[in-house]
Amino acid sequence: MKKALMGTILIIEDNPANMRLAELLVRNAGHEVLSAVDAETGVALARSALPDLILMDVQLPGMDGLEATALLKSAPATAAIPVIALTALAMKADKENSRLAGCDAYIAKPLRYQELYAAIDSLLQSPAR
Ligand code: MN
Repeated sequence: MKKALMGTILIIEDNPANMRLAELLVRNAGHEVLSAVDAETGVALARSALPDLILMDVQLPGMDGLEATALLKSAPATAAIPVIALTALAMKADKENSRLAGCDAYIAKPLRYQELYAAIDSLLQSPAR
């Protein structure tokens, strides 16, 4: 059994209830949490803090989560940070769009801790990091 790695996880989510849940789950798994409520702040924080992983809400005011992901993936300093897209829209097109934007994984909300932890553990252990 592989040992789970701990890291700093940036959560970008505009909905307060979803943010509280995501923060709680991530902290309970032993990770450090950084948070931002819009994409612009999140991208700036990702560039300055270089988190180990990002949980990216897709639907955000202003720049959306997929635009923000594409921006981070296009810059050498942030391209290797794994991004998990979080969306309420459990649609096939949404999953494909998140893959095209460069997201490493995709989770439909509401968050289920088993699925979230599995995705986080898998990406933190990825040899690409
Ligand atoms: Mn949202």
